[in-house]
Amino acid sequence: MNKLDSALMLEQFLSKGHKQTDSEKDADIILFNTCSVRKHAEDKVYNNLRMLKPLKDKNPRLIIGLVGCMAEKEKSLALDKIPFLDIICGPNQEHAIVDAIDEITKNRNKVVKTGEGVPPAKMAARTSVNLSEYILAMKGCNNFCSYCVVPYVRGRETSRPMDEIVEEAKMLSEKGAKEIILLGQCISSYDDRGNRLSHLLNAIHYIEGIKRIRFVTSHPAYTAEDVFKAMQDLPKVCPHLHMPAQSGSDKILKAMNRKYTRSDYLKLVEKARKIVPEIEIASDFIVGFPGETEADFEETASLIKEVRFINSFVFKYS
Ligand code: SF4
Repeated sequence: MNKLDSALMLEQFLSKGHKQTDSEKDADIILFNTCSVRKHAEDKVYNNLRMLKPLKDKNPRLIIGLVGCMAEKEKSLALDKIPFLDIICGPNQEHAIVDAIDEITKNRNKVVKTGEGVPPAKMAARTSVNLSEYILAMKGCNNFCSYCVVPYVRGRETSRPMDEIVEEAKMLSEKGAKEIILLGQCISSYDDRGNRLSHLLNAIHYIEGIKRIRFVTSHPAYTAEDVFKAMQDLPKVCPHLHMPAQSGSDKILKAMNRKYTRSDYLKLVEKARKIVPEIEIASDFIVGFPGETEADFEETASLIKEVRFINSFVFKYS
């Protein structure tokens, strides 16, 4: 999601005549697009920002900004930690980042832009298109898993209209994209006036130039059979499901507010494999969640052995 947000912000700058540089020494504007899903990621951003102090001292006109989820979470508190920051801009305000920076250039003031913004960005212009391209299908999340900041910093779920997404896929295909990766924090809940993820996959499948379609991230409580059927019926939809289990222990899943049990997860995997025999499933896990005992950990380990994931992102709780 952050990669796409960065690409779309870069497009805004390029379309207004800015140029990209690889060297921070040549830059007039340096923005950190951030993630606050783990404390460690936040610490790294603050450390990297502090390292820019000598550059800012040398060139006070250099604009330094904190963008993305960490900006939304920290708001003006970030200024207490990094007083030389010029702009703090949350993920729902990034559509207006260039205007905000123009204002700073003109008035030499500090700007804090957070809170709910406009609905998910309309089709964004893309000057350079890769073989594989992300499209934002929906933003936000309604799930409030107890460890997760997303609903607080990205807001509630909002799905983009299906026809707008299909138009964007056509535009990307005409510019050379062959693979589309649909993004949503909880893509399983995509809903545009009754059009669900399976309908969206069907609609994109019929764009000639597109050869592969993927989607992330699937939530086990909302992933439905129609998606597996679409995967089986539509050859361009890759038989790959990123569906985080997070834990194999019912006690920990409850504490995480994940809304499914170990047995629900295993049944869903069984159903997916029955409908799409070649499917590969990937997962995320958090270990050391508060209250996790050795026995809970062993249940997670046994779930991993039982499901045989193609890959997993495993993090210690932070
Ligand atoms: Fe966070 Fe994902 Fe849970 Fe939403 S479903 S609250 S994004 S972990």
